[in-house]
Amino acid sequence: MIYDNEKLKYYAKNILEIPSPTGYTDKIMEFISTELHILNVPFSMTNKGAMIVTIKGKNHEYQKTISAHVDTLGAMVKGIKENGALSLVPLGGFMMNAIDGENCTIETVDGKVFTGTIQTTKPSVHISGDEARDLKRIPENMEVIIDEKVFSKQDVEKLGINVGDIISFDTRTRITENGFVKSRYLDDKASVAILLFVIKHLIKEKIQLPFTTNFFISNYEEVGHGAKAALPENTKEFIAVDMGAPGLDQNSSEYVTCICAKDTSGPYDYNLRKKLINVCKVNAIPYKVDVYPFYSSDASAALGAGYDIKTALIGPGVFASHAYERTHMDSILATVDLVLKYCQEA
Ligand SMILES: [Zn+2]
Repeated sequence: MIYDNEKLKYYAKNILEIPSPTGYTDKIMEFISTELHILNVPFSMTNKGAMIVTIKGKNHEYQKTISAHVDTLGAMVKGIKENGALSLVPLGGFMMNAIDGENCTIETVDGKVFTGTIQTTKPSVHISGDEARDLKRIPENMEVIIDEKVFSKQDVEKLGINVGDIISFDTRTRITENGFVKSRYLDDKASVAILLFVIKHLIKEKIQLPFTTNFFISNYEEVGHGAKAALPENTKEFIAVDMGAPGLDQNSSEYVTCICAKDTSGPYDYNLRKKLINVCKVNAIPYKVDVYPFYSSDASAALGAGYDIKTALIGPGVFASHAYERTHMDSILATVDLVLKYCQEA
């Protein structure tokens, strides 16, 4: 299937570049709302800020719900040091090495935005030698150096920066000519772009769905409770669209869509997995089935909350997840294909 790749890239780039650390997702939801308004697609928001788009199908009793999470990793100001640097606390689970030297923004509750850099407390080899090299990258040894002439805690407070302010890391988003997509937060913004694109396609092409299908844009996945509440009542099948995990000893790939058989939370529904594999086979969609050693998804969250649903986990293969990530347009397009064909599956 040939799609409007430029539109897909437009969605992906914009979604990737609007900061949305978990717990701070209003702005990104605004962007998605605006795009849905353009498509004339209604949506609703849950109390905790997730978004639901429902496209009516023939059968309203048996519904499919497809999720992706728009919240990402990030950090929060934990304290202001006497020297004017900020200590930080991570939002979500990542290696501190992955943000060493990264540029960032700090946004105050009044909406003021400052830039800065994440550094270790011993950032110069000319000053600390091997101590700089060997310093363990843990939150206690990392700080934010603000791009302002600040020399004391008072100077920083005068800027309006306070404990609890949101720190967002630069995503360094690049899409290469030959289709590689490199960025922080492809997990899971690549999938949010995929769902938005699928919604656009279903609406523009006036595709009649056999089952009412809901798109659930989750906003607290990185801390484990994204899809724990407010799933549409008649949901019988729930597909989490979230990154596949290619790399060392893994079966996933950056060039196909990945179908997860089992992660840390346990096996996904056997029959739903078979159905998805079959959709791939019938439509010649490249796919790989894999097992993820340290992983759980919004499908795991929904099951944990007690929903009686069949679940599956599919998504683009994201290399170096929770660090500076990479995937390929092939993987994104294969996932678009799988989601679209699954929606139309009777
Ligand atoms: Zn994810």
